[in-house]
Amino acid sequence: MAPVVTDGSPLWLDGLDLPSREPLPGDTHVDVCVVGAGFTGLWTALGILEREPDARVQVVEQEFAGFGASGRNGGWCSALFPISGAELAARHGRDAAIAMRAALHDTVDEVGRASAALGIDCDYVKGGTHSLVRSATARSRAEEEIEDAEALGLPAPEWREDAALGTTLFDPQCARISPGRLVRGLAVAAEERGAAIAEHTTAVSVQPHEVLTDRGLVRADRVVVATEAWGARLPGVGRRILPLYSLMVATEPLSGAVWDEIGLRHGETVTDFRHLLVYGQRTADDRLAFGGRGARYHAGSTVRPDWDVSPRVFAHLERTIGELFPAAAGARITHRWGGPIGVPRDWHPSVVRLRGGVVWAGGYVGDGVAASNLAGRTVADLVTGRSTPLTALPWVDHRPPRWEPEPLRVLGVNAVVAATGLADAEERLTGSPSRLAAAMARLGLR
Ligand SMILES: Cc1cc2nc3c(=O)[nH]c(=O)nc-3n(C[C@H](O)[C@H](O)[C@H](O)COP(=O)(O)OP(=O)(O)OC[C@H]3O[C@@H](n4cnc5c(N)ncnc54)[C@H](O)[C@@H]3O)c2cc1C
Repeated sequence: MAPVVTDGSPLWLDGLDLPSREPLPGDTHVDVCVVGAGFTGLWTALGILEREPDARVQVVEQEFAGFGASGRNGGWCSALFPISGAELAARHGRDAAIAMRAALHDTVDEVGRASAALGIDCDYVKGGTHSLVRSATARSRAEEEIEDAEALGLPAPEWREDAALGTTLFDPQCARISPGRLVRGLAVAAEERGAAIAEHTTAVSVQPHEVLTDRGLVRADRVVVATEAWGARLPGVGRRILPLYSLMVATEPLSGAVWDEIGLRHGETVTDFRHLLVYGQRTADDRLAFGGRGARYHAGSTVRPDWDVSPRVFAHLERTIGELFPAAAGARITHRWGGPIGVPRDWHPSVVRLRGGVVWAGGYVGDGVAASNLAGRTVADLVTGRSTPLTALPWVDHRPPRWEPEPLRVLGVNAVVAATGLADAEERLTGSPSRLAAAMARLGLR
């Protein structure tokens, strides 16, 4: 019987060899210093070394490579972007919106290609995503999604009828991965190409040409900040990003008969159209890994191991598994964990050149698995002085407004989280699109 793990540790790091790397030995001088060893920081380091094989690249990581969201996520490598195509076009123009969407679309394949080329087995299978359509309100949101893609002339998701899943909107452009294997593999690959990775080393301030850590000063010609949600603690990043928790559970491995009843094949991921997002994948070892939002925001943008665990949210996820997939209702839950996603005030991810040549990348909300690869390649082009189609994408130098100071921030964000859950309850009761959700959308809240 699979053991039950209750300490908040992600399924994805189970059984992986996690040798600890040494902290920074002291003051050092390099060409590029990258803060954060998640997908963004590691794809960036690899991208720089591909362009400048002799560059001296120092990565500093407060815990260990893959400690952050990159080692904890739902493993959807998708072309999703947290704001719609229509919003992108309204902000940057139609051509720029198409270019951004097309680049994300291609990146889903690029992650598969690049990880294979680096010799990383991360269980990448491009099985696509099913969005379950089990109500009239879900149908109308599915239609909106198709219209949003068609308006930009991009490939739209397609209707499917499945004996087990029912009606779904199917998007083929999504791969299922095991994120822990990818992020740990990227760290090894970056070291093999010459990067130095210092773990247990916390950056306490980032200035042009220098990163002060608790283990010494790194002087660098170029500095990259890839700290996502944890960046809220860094002076200079602070209110650019808000840490909002997403939590996950995983069942024990399920039998083929149970999977036949559920209806998900190998490599497929699943969601539905509720406002308070849920997401799942059939893992390589036949578990259902299932996550969702709804955890409250913690005042002062605090990020703590305690927040990775919420009995209320875990219970909600386990109930939802039973509602969506009755065949999995009794399955034992072996893992429960969570982590913060990084949310910019306007939900628009970006790659930004800050003062003095410091580059910051992130703000992916919950859609960073593929986007961080695109960001890493884009940052590598920028810091090596290249002007490419990637550096012309509209998320480059997009500057979201800052989040409100406290206590406005905690009051506002938690009111929106609560209202999002209520909007789903309203739709279940009335069977019509939520008036609360419509009111929030008019106010620019989500
Ligand atoms: C539960 C969950 C589910 C998700 N599901 C999906 C999904 O299915 N698909 C998807 O596309 N996205 C998903 N996401 C989002 C995705 O995981 C992230 O967008 C992506 O991993 C971000 O990568 P990153 O490298 O920018 O950040 P991270 O992986 O968070 O890496 C940042 C690193 O910086 C380090 N760091 C921070 N501050 C400092 C400092 N001061 N000094 C040194 N080091 C520092 C951290 O320790 C961390 O390792 C999910 C996220 C969560 C939490």
